[in-house]
Amino acid sequence: MNYSTFYESIVKVVYIESSVAHGEVAQRLLRRLPRVRTRIVDGPHAVAPSDRRGTTLYLTPHRGAAVARCPGSKGHLCCNYLTVDLYSGCPIGCTYCIMRSYLNFSPVAIVAEPRPIIDAIVRVAEANPDTMIRVGSGETGDSLLFDPLCELSRPIVSALAEHKNVFFEMKTKTDLVDHLLDIERKGNAVVGFSVGPQTVIDGEEGTAVSLEARLQAARRAACAGFMVSFHFDPMFYRPDWQELYFPVADALARFRNDRVAWISLGTFRYPPQLKECVAPRAYLYGEFVRSVDGKYRYLQRVRREMYRIMRERILAAVRTPVYLCMESEAVWNRAFGAAPGQLDAVATLFKRPEL
Ligand code: SF4
Repeated sequence: MNYSTFYESIVKVVYIESSVAHGEVAQRLLRRLPRVRTRIVDGPHAVAPSDRRGTTLYLTPHRGAAVARCPGSKGHLCCNYLTVDLYSGCPIGCTYCIMRSYLNFSPVAIVAEPRPIIDAIVRVAEANPDTMIRVGSGETGDSLLFDPLCELSRPIVSALAEHKNVFFEMKTKTDLVDHLLDIERKGNAVVGFSVGPQTVIDGEEGTAVSLEARLQAARRAACAGFMVSFHFDPMFYRPDWQELYFPVADALARFRNDRVAWISLGTFRYPPQLKECVAPRAYLYGEFVRSVDGKYRYLQRVRREMYRIMRERILAAVRTPVYLCMESEAVWNRAFGAAPGQLDAVATLFKRPEL
């Protein structure tokens, strides 16, 4: 299946805001989706109610801050990751997707011009020359699902390659990396993969590709000179969780000799609104406590054991910084024996850049 056939199967309509209709990305969309219905409009209000869904693309000028801090979570240690919104919204359809509870514009919004984003990242990099700038496009959608179609990541990777302190991460549950492999200068660009047991992928991750397909894509990216990263997030607790997650950790040994930028762990958590947005799932009926940020998390002793055991297992497979996503200092101390600031490799990742 070529890219056009693939995208014609998942995109039913493309809306393009008139101010960006003559730009390169708009023209690329029109050229590559000749059989998909297209409408030029003045703003998001013009999207028909029947098109407010993930099969609609909405090409928009950039609005708001081009680089933002990851929102973090009250009472939890933030990893000081920076985010850029290239693709907001996602039709993959994970049952646990937190965006179900806060994105109220359900088409996939795509920025029409990467230049403001590049300029903003470069400004941050130059203002913080001694700080590792970790910045990613996978916060509000999948970084790569529509990237072969729109090609927003390519100019960003190329432009940031000369900035040694910038680690631009593209996070995905797809295997769509091949359009990036021939980028000549990749610098410290990172292709990040969400990983988990195949049974969880089958049951909860909609149209995401298999674990093996993700790992093979990671191999292609690593062989082409990208850094790679892996995210065990969300990890679900069940009595047999080790049987499910250990083989995934062990599989990372294939990347022992590659540049693995980092690996993150995060157990399943959810805001109360998510429960109202998803069909009943077995994982919602575990034992949870409400944290200070209002989200429900597994009991602390469950989380810290999962983190401690998984970190050991991962480090036996591949040497790289392993960090926790949105966890309390108490959990860090009990799971990893120290707060991130006291763990050398992680402290470098967590340094806070000035914006
Ligand atoms: S891939 Fe990510 S953004 Fe897309 S539905 Fe799944 S969790 Fe949500």
